[in-house]
Parts: sequence; C-alpha cells; structure tokens
Amino acid sequence: MTSPADTPLTTLERTKKLKERALELGFDAFGVALAQTADPEHRLRAWLDRGYHGNLSWMETTYERRVDITKSLPGARSVVAVSASYYRGEIAPNAKLKIARYAQGKDYHRWFRRKVRKLRKYLIQLAPGCQVYPTVDTSPVLEREWAARAGIAWIGKSTMAIHPQLGTYTYLGTLITDCELEPNDPLPNRCGTCTACLSACPTQAFVEPGVLDARKCIAYWTLEQHGELPDDLPPFHGWTAGCDICQEVCPWNKFAKTSTDPHTDPHPHLLSPDIDTFTLPDANESLCDALRATTLQRTGAETIRRNARRNLHMKKI
Ligand code: SF4
Ligand code: SF4
Repeated sequence: MTSPADTPLTTLERTKKLKERALELGFDAFGVALAQTADPEHRLRAWLDRGYHGNLSWMETTYERRVDITKSLPGARSVVAVSASYYRGEIAPNAKLKIARYAQGKDYHRWFRRKVRKLRKYLIQLAPGCQVYPTVDTSPVLEREWAARAGIAWIGKSTMAIHPQLGTYTYLGTLITDCELEPNDPLPNRCGTCTACLSACPTQAFVEPGVLDARKCIAYWTLEQHGELPDDLPPFHGWTAGCDICQEVCPWNKFAKTSTDPHTDPHPHLLSPDIDTFTLPDANESLCDALRATTLQRTGAETIRRNARRNLHMKKI
C-alpha cells in the first residue's frame, strides 16, 4: 500500500500520492479542482425557479450549500473528485421489467463511501491537521459539476457526467478539503452535434440540452414518488426502478469499462426481474430479499411493485 511520507510533501507530491492511493483503492478516475466560492448566477437557481425539481423540496432547501462549497467546509481550498464504473453489460432490450444498472448491485452508499472514507484517511495522513469532508451522493454537493471541474468528466446534454474512457455508468464521490492540492484542467465538452439522448427520451423530459424537467423523468416517478400515480403519466417502457435509456444511447458508453468490483455484481432478481416476484403481494418477502443491501431498499418494495404492475398493465393494489 502507498505509505505516507515522513518529510513534508510538496503540493504536487501530495497530489500524486493521493492519486496513487485512489487507484489502489479501485477508483477508475481521480482529479482535483480548486474550491471556488458561491456563484450567485448558478444555473441551479433558474432550474429550481422553473419548478423542474418537482416535489424534491430538499433541492431547494439545500440550494445555498449546493452552490457554495465553503458552506460544507469553511476554508475549503481543493475538491478531489473520484469515480468508479458500475457497468456490467447490457440489459435485454425486450425485458418486460428493467432495473437501472446503478441499482442492481450492492448499495454504493455503503461500499463506495467506505472507499471514499479510506481515501480521506490517507489524505489526513499525508497532510496532518487538514480538514476533509467526504461526499457520496447524499450530501448537498454538486458532484457532477465538481467531477467536470476536476477534469474527470464533462456534463453531457443528458446531464450525466461523461468520462471519455468510462462513459456515464459511474459512481461519483468527492473530498472537500482545506488542504492544497494540484488542480487539473477541466475536460472540454465532447457531446458535439450528438443529440441521441435528447431524442431517445420517451417522455421528452429534456426541456433543452442539459436541462431536465425531473417531473417528466421515469426515474423521478419510479424512485422518488410513492403512493398512487396520476393516471395521465406516460408509459414507463418496462423501467421499474430508474431508467437508463438516455445513457444506453450515449455513444461514449461504447467505451464503458466493465466493472470487476464484486460489489457491482448484479443481484439476479434485479438483473432479470421475475414477474411474479415483482408483482404479487404474496411474493413480498422475495422482493424485499432482492432489495435488501441495494440502494432500492430506500425506494421500498411497495413502490417497486406498483411500478412493475403499471408496466404490465395490471390493476392497482
Ligand atoms: S432517465 Fe429516462 S425518462 Fe429520464 S431523461 Fe433519461 S431517458 Fe428520459
Ligand atoms: S447521447 Fe450524445 S448528446 Fe447525449 S450526453 Fe451522450 S454524447 Fe452528449
């Protein structure tokens, strides 16, 4: 394992050692951005003002923290961005029920976060006394934006973070720190004239390139909305938890790296959902079993079953 140095390191040496450790831990990409203070004109403000977040009220209540990294860590100087692929191959296109790839393996909020915390610990060994705030998905931090600033992705027209050698099927994490690290240059946006994601979205959820109206997105309805669904929603096209259509058509996913991390092994029931397990209340125990230890446990068996039955045009229960 990479060991911390006995003598004080230069900024460049510290960054290099941290990157080595990140790769040892199994991250596929590592970059550093200079922490910047609040941007009063942030495009998130306009997105919220137009109501595109629907009833995800926490997006609004955490706005100030999202656009100002120093509210998460006063004195922040650097943001480390890391990512790891979760891609494990294709989903049968004609499957009647489909689960988004990010949710098929073990809950990344646990295992991926453990890796991010290990990296944090190592940074503190390299720079004793430094403050480091780790984030994986649930913190009010714009992780895709930091990945772009740190040079490990650009934000595509699909709003996803795209890495040129990994594609979009990646988990992201950050370390916000008051430690000085050597920053990377941001990557240029390489979407070019492609509009594949915009035209493939079956619900026309993209208001314009890079702007998603969450209220029209299948992922929003299948993961974030519980209880009875409005009758006038468009079909979910088999998607029972999340939706990968705008990623499946992205040409950069031809380069998706197949993950070899056992945590990303798809649960067999989530890779190929069995209709009875996903629709019959009698099979609740099997469905709960399949969801246990995955991120879908938060969504809950009842909501997943509701989505599956809607996809199969079964009566509401
Ligand atoms: S996840 Fe699905 S519904 Fe949402 S924007 Fe992408 S293609 Fe459209
Ligand atoms: S599908 Fe095309 S436009 Fe959309 S994110 Fe991928 S490269 Fe960009």
